[in-house]
Amino acid sequence: MSVTPEQQAEIDALRAQTRPTLRAVSDGMEAHLYKAIPVLDHGFVRVIDYMGDDAAICQAARVSYGKGTKSVQNDEGLIRYLMRHWHSTPFEMCEVKLHVKLPVFVARQWIRHRTANVNEYSARYSILDREFYIPDPSQLAAQSVINNQGRGEALTGEEAARVLAYLKGDAAQCYDHYEEMISQEGQQGLARELARMNLPANIYTQWYWKVDLHNLFHFLRLRADSHAQYEIRVYAEAICEVVRDWVPAAYGAFEDYRMGGATLSGKALECIRRMLKGEEVTQETSGMSKGEWREFQGVIL
Ligand SMILES: Cc1cc2nc3c(=O)[nH]c(=O)nc-3n(C[C@H](O)[C@H](O)[C@H](O)COP(=O)(O)OP(=O)(O)OC[C@H]3O[C@@H](n4cnc5c(N)ncnc54)[C@H](O)[C@@H]3O)c2cc1C
Repeated sequence: MSVTPEQQAEIDALRAQTRPTLRAVSDGMEAHLYKAIPVLDHGFVRVIDYMGDDAAICQAARVSYGKGTKSVQNDEGLIRYLMRHWHSTPFEMCEVKLHVKLPVFVARQWIRHRTANVNEYSARYSILDREFYIPDPSQLAAQSVINNQGRGEALTGEEAARVLAYLKGDAAQCYDHYEEMISQEGQQGLARELARMNLPANIYTQWYWKVDLHNLFHFLRLRADSHAQYEIRVYAEAICEVVRDWVPAAYGAFEDYRMGGATLSGKALECIRRMLKGEEVTQETSGMSKGEWREFQGVIL
């Protein structure tokens, strides 16, 4: 379960309170505020707060006194221009604060993105819940033979059943010992900050994560990408849907130039020019390494 009925009631109560504001409001984002979007088996992402909208990006770019917007088309054109030319600071004027519940091994990848502000649930102060990420059988895959950082085919039959039993059994046993160590009958028990070292990396943690739109796009480009591990990618994909509703013009430009676009080296561009002139270019005549050529072909074919 991603949120308990009590937590849902708190979310509903917050959503029931409304008040007028003079600040920029994104209707798409208001629809998301506080709601938990389920991710994996017990995780979620939910928007706690945000600042700015598409117009705020244009307002900052034009350093305007008023709303700074012109026509919608004009604003969209400006946003696309800014994205195309890596003019990043206007995008930094928008911010979002997310509450994320995620397995610890996913959190380790996520925390590498340093350009955000984080406050995590304290397992020194509080007791972690008995909640572990157990992959869906479709995600229980073998080590890839072609990519050291990837997965191959899903395990099946007895092997899949054995792996699932290990994951569930080991997590349960570790948690039993954790609980036992911190709650010795009549005694103080082991300190929580020590007992937690016995917990596996698939236990869930939670944090508030605040980031500006420019750095969020950087995170999404890396983590919503097919090369990212599935378990962090599903969080990034959930955030993509939120950002699409929050700043539709900026997200559209990001999707087009960053997610859908590609960066070409000087050699790659030269090859394209030669190909356009009708020349047959091969890896040997391209000046590129085998790896570069393979990636180049992946982009143009
Ligand atoms: C598919 C994939 C595989 C990966 N594999 C590994 C791995 O095997 N091992 C591993 O250790 N990591 C790995 N990473 C993590 C990766 O190397 C980055 O640490 C992570 O993606 C964060 O990127 P970032 O530093 O650009 O982001 P952020 O920390 O958000 O930084 C954004 C940008 O700000 C600038 N910046 C931020 N802090 C500094 C600083 N202190 N000094 C200079 N510039 C700064 C840089 O330009 C940076 O690109 C992997 C990431 C991905 C997506």
